[in-house]
Amino acid sequence: MTSFYDLLAQWPAEKRKAVWENTDFSQVQRALSKDNLTPQDFLALLSPCASEHLELIAQRAHELTLRFFGHAVNLFTPLYISDVCTNQCRYCGFNARNTQKRTHLSPEAAAAEARLLHDQGHRHLLLLTGDAPKLSSPAYIADVVQRIKPLFASVGIEVYALTEDEYAMLVASGVDSMTMFQETYDPELYAWLHPAGPKHNYRFRLDAPQRAAAAGMRSVGVGALLGLAPFEQDTFATGLHAWWLERHYPGVDIGLSIPRICPHEGSFTVKHAVDDRHFVQYVMALRCFLPRCSITCSTRESAVMRDHLIPLGVTRVSAGVSTAVGGRATKEASPTGQFEITDHRSLPEMIAAIAALGYQAVIKDWEDPTASSQATACA
Ligand code: SF4
Repeated sequence: MTSFYDLLAQWPAEKRKAVWENTDFSQVQRALSKDNLTPQDFLALLSPCASEHLELIAQRAHELTLRFFGHAVNLFTPLYISDVCTNQCRYCGFNARNTQKRTHLSPEAAAAEARLLHDQGHRHLLLLTGDAPKLSSPAYIADVVQRIKPLFASVGIEVYALTEDEYAMLVASGVDSMTMFQETYDPELYAWLHPAGPKHNYRFRLDAPQRAAAAGMRSVGVGALLGLAPFEQDTFATGLHAWWLERHYPGVDIGLSIPRICPHEGSFTVKHAVDDRHFVQYVMALRCFLPRCSITCSTRESAVMRDHLIPLGVTRVSAGVSTAVGGRATKEASPTGQFEITDHRSLPEMIAAIAALGYQAVIKDWEDPTASSQATACA
């Protein structure tokens, strides 16, 4: 099969930019009239021409969201269990060069934090660690998962890239979903942004979602950190990556995340900031191109933006978020989070906000058939 790496290579920057810049209105209309869009159609919907016709794209994105997801919006909450990191990502507050105090929760402390989130009503949990494979090893993650799995219908991971065997081991421990942010799909920019540490290996990270899918992960998500590369570059590559995964792993639920870069402690300059208009265009183009994929919007975005995007394609949102390690149920805590949260709404506040939009907040939409979950809440 053609690897995603090879497929991406068929779309060098010059070719992509030429299609993007030269798209006319008839191509936008054609893309909006099709049930199965090609990558070229997706690029047309990301184009400057399409940005002049956002209302038309919004109508199509709304129609497709209702057709495939109804009025359901899934809720989850993240739990950061370690901010020890050996990487030097230039844009991240957890960068190994930052001298801030670090916290690595013991499995017992992580389970205590998770229990508090369970008691608040959360049933879908996302575990996050920095990239420190010796300290936050796959065995450590599995230990935490086994302790908390009875409390949650779904436990996902957002950790460093693993081997297929390691993903399989985590699936066996109770993990059912993973998200991998490629950050940028431009190999040269990627190398500059990640000068040291295991994350420097572009290809190992690029192929992580397919290794997870091959290892039996129920749900696999991809995303780029918007603002690192020119708009048409990483938006197109992210959609193409999900499109490729859908075709090669039809039994896996493929999802997308849409983070825009946030300020952090340090001095990283955002060269390609994505404004609100282009951000909304991106979400709607993704929905038209990949109508069955879930789209997750984090608390990097404001409450107003997150609410606005729900009718246009977003189907998963977080609630009750902290991006710092610890501090809920344990005294161990890091002083700062990975990024600044813009939407501080609690779980009840998110449920109320979603209801006010005429949608249904879903706290639990799936349960591992092999697990004896104690979770019963469903809004
Ligand atoms: S983005 Fe992730 S891998 Fe990079 S420094 Fe931050 S926590 Fe570490």
